[in-house]
Amino acid sequence: MSPEAPRKPRKRVAILGGGAAAMTAAHYMSRTPELRERLEVTVYQMGWRLGGKGASGRNLAESARIEEHGLHVWGGFYYNAFRLMQECYGALDRPPGCPLRTWTDAFQKHPLVVWEELVDGQWRHWPVETPLNDGVPGTGGEDPTLWQHLQTLIGWIKNSIFVFPHEDVRAAAAAPDTAALLHGVHAEALSTTPDGTNHHGILSGLERLRGWFHGTLQDHIWRNDEARRMYILLDLAQAVVRGMLRDGVPWRGIMCIDEHDFAEWLGRHGATSGALTSAPLRGYYDYFFAYAGGDASQPRISAAIALHHLLRLVGEYKGALFWKMGSGMGDAAFGPLYELCRRNGVRFRFFHEVKELVPDGGSRSLAAVRLRRQADLKRAEYQPLVTIAGLPSWPSAPLYAQIVDAQAAEIQRRGANLEDPLTDWDGVADVELQAGRDFDAVVLGISIGAFPQICARLIAADPAWRAMAANLPAIQTQALQLWWPGDAGSLGWDMGNATGTGYGQPLESWSDMSPVLPLETWPAGSKPGTVIYFCGIMDTPELPQRRDPGFLAGETGRADARAADWARQYLPHLYPRAGAPLARYVRANCTPSERYVLDLPGTNRYRLEADTSGLDNLALAGDWIFTGQGGAVESAITAGMLAAQALTGEDLRIRGALPSPWRRRPSLRRLL
Ligand SMILES: Cc1cc2nc3c(=O)[nH]c(=O)nc-3n(C[C@H](O)[C@H](O)[C@H](O)COP(=O)(O)OP(=O)(O)OC[C@H]3O[C@@H](n4cnc5c(N)ncnc54)[C@H](O)[C@@H]3O)c2cc1C
Repeated sequence: MSPEAPRKPRKRVAILGGGAAAMTAAHYMSRTPELRERLEVTVYQMGWRLGGKGASGRNLAESARIEEHGLHVWGGFYYNAFRLMQECYGALDRPPGCPLRTWTDAFQKHPLVVWEELVDGQWRHWPVETPLNDGVPGTGGEDPTLWQHLQTLIGWIKNSIFVFPHEDVRAAAAAPDTAALLHGVHAEALSTTPDGTNHHGILSGLERLRGWFHGTLQDHIWRNDEARRMYILLDLAQAVVRGMLRDGVPWRGIMCIDEHDFAEWLGRHGATSGALTSAPLRGYYDYFFAYAGGDASQPRISAAIALHHLLRLVGEYKGALFWKMGSGMGDAAFGPLYELCRRNGVRFRFFHEVKELVPDGGSRSLAAVRLRRQADLKRAEYQPLVTIAGLPSWPSAPLYAQIVDAQAAEIQRRGANLEDPLTDWDGVADVELQAGRDFDAVVLGISIGAFPQICARLIAADPAWRAMAANLPAIQTQALQLWWPGDAGSLGWDMGNATGTGYGQPLESWSDMSPVLPLETWPAGSKPGTVIYFCGIMDTPELPQRRDPGFLAGETGRADARAADWARQYLPHLYPRAGAPLARYVRANCTPSERYVLDLPGTNRYRLEADTSGLDNLALAGDWIFTGQGGAVESAITAGMLAAQALTGEDLRIRGALPSPWRRRPSLRRLL
């Protein structure tokens, strides 16, 4: 028998934070026996739960109701995110009877979107039942190219004009010259492979079309809801096509329009003022919380990010335009991820607040990570989940019985919130992770809002970090959940389960989440029939420089007052027969890392990539790195995959991530 080769010591990876990006990285560095043999992965998470901006918690004092950071729906085009969920649920193989046993239990198709239109000072519902298809998100062949998206859009414009919901426009479109123009532009788009020189015929056809189309608009058409709405969509679609061609987006790449604000860009390419102030465009800004400083009067989003996301959202979706979760996002996504990673040997260090990343003298490597342990546990490991209605779930507060009694009592006496770095509790011990001793590589999965505190040395030492921190602002958001006794019909809503946007701020987006109610444990006799989640932007103050437990309380109070004002003014239009709710939950997402990262025009150049932190043992993971996608679950999960791929060298077949045209640094050192 030949002696066995000595086992190489495993490389140690410290993952800081446990949001979507960080947990994705943890999964892709632990999912196979080979990886587990070569890597030892530890997640350091502040407080008691995973999920970050996507965390949800069960309020054990309030019928285990689900309390979210904010409404979350997933786009049907999310490829990496759904693939992760499919892998995760598949590997977990939950037992029969578990409420979210498979990924299709956890995610349901959600086709109905409602925009809110303001017409003559009155709000009107604009429902859009988007078509379902047989696709399965996270599967399938190649994604369409930008040019293919453009061809599809031109085809849609042509067909929609021929069946326009007003006979005057239909009749005008049927005139021989116009019909020939419409067919001609489409045929030329289909037969052209663009190279930057041969698109002028299509463009001049589109210019003529624009003149004709705007000429058809009469007051009586604008006053007809169906006609006006189709007019707006066609107007926006034509501006997109013209803008893409004029600016050379298909051959220069989408980032060539990053400098522009999306609405301004559409306006430059001929969108009318009616379209630029329309509900769909407002709703799209709402969807990205795209308001500088959280100020409703400052809508701003990179045209590149907005367009890339939009083309994929409407042109690549599988199954349904949106998918909704069958529980809180914590329990639908992060519970299973935690369970699987745990089973795959990932170690979790809850109650560990990262305080500082320390580079070495030359700033070429990360030398140490300084943390503060927030509490001591009675047992070696914290068990973070509780089972509610058969489902492993995250509680909305620490499970204090697992914390050393005196500390648990003091934390509760002070009302300290262990997810808030400003809270009135400074933890119990310093912890220092050292390069070589405790880690071979680090994945930074904490969000950029916290960087002025935790990455101050990197920001001071490196102009690229300085530029990134200065140019990627993050804003506060706020959430409201209302539980009512009857079903949505009894509240005066008769359109079925919908997600709405484009409504009055600050709670401009909402969704009927009543399907999650069976997972809550309301007493018989006071079971709600409906729960609606609302969320939106919040004007964003500077963070206090010093510990200030009053900040979170103050912002929560402000969110509460804003929600109450909003409900008085706006709720009656949505739910005209709603009486007093059974229960109400308000939340301000105001701590540094909870703040939503904006995609302001001209800022993509400042985003570092997963592998270009400039430190050879530091990978970056979060919706704030460069992926070419907007701040959303898909970009965070893509980022986590990119970080894992950079460290392991494994090709993870990532979809939708664009290479940065501003890449300027060498990649970090691979572990494997
Ligand atoms: C209200 C709201 C609604 C949204 N709705 C949608 C939606 O419908 N669809 C969609 O696709 N996207 C939505 N998003 C965006 C999506 O939630 C984010 O893009 C995504 O969750 C970001 O993940 P992340 O991993 O980049 O960062 P985060 O989720 O912020 O993760 C950061 C992690 O670091 C931890 N952390 C922070 N500070 C420390 C510290 N000092 N020490 C240790 N750990 C720390 C956090 O607790 C967290 O675990 C929404 C966002 C918000 C705020």
